[in-house]
Amino acid sequence: MQTLVCAYIGLGSNLQNPAEQIQSARVAIAALVGIEERGFSSLYHSAPMGPQDQPDYVNAVMAVATDLPPIDLLRVLQGIENHQGRVRAERWGARTLDLDIVLYGDEVINLPDLIVPHVGLTERAFVLYPLNEIAPQLIIPNRGKLVDLLDNCPLAGLTRLA
Ligand code: ATP
Ligand code: MG
Ligand code: MG
Repeated sequence: MQTLVCAYIGLGSNLQNPAEQIQSARVAIAALVGIEERGFSSLYHSAPMGPQDQPDYVNAVMAVATDLPPIDLLRVLQGIENHQGRVRAERWGARTLDLDIVLYGDEVINLPDLIVPHVGLTERAFVLYPLNEIAPQLIIPNRGKLVDLLDNCPLAGLTRLA
């Protein structure tokens, strides 16, 4: 096996039993060849971004160790989104499953299909707070310490599910 990289995946769902969608995705990701689960946050409840005429979201962040190159990781995650019925309609519209690569080790990636660290990271409470639960010491490439990012990111209604 090549060197393993620690990557963080943001999971979100607001259709067809979101908590179950997140759980199914966790199992599917952990079962992928070249990926090992290393941590999983609590589930969180968040208000939608963008169009407001959609249900609230359930979100979580998963830590994995992987030897998949970043683009391959993106493709297998998109395969799981599709398998769980993701339909790509309006931007930030309702979806059964969204899997975003939040971080891939300490790499900065700027490809047409893949930007890492994820572009929305610093403004999104539903990514930063779950991430802090499983990796409080993180330093984000080009953005600084996670704890400092949290200080500047209001909860905006984010709640942790029991
Ligand atoms: P956002 O990226 O703002 O959270 P979204 O998750 O709803 O929005 P998607 O429809 O899931 O957006 O993905 C749109 C495109 O974003 C994908 O086709 C993918 O190529 C691209 N993309 C760029 N960077 C990433 C990343 N870090 N993780 C996942 N997809 C990414
Ligand atoms: Mg997203
Ligand atoms: Mg996405």
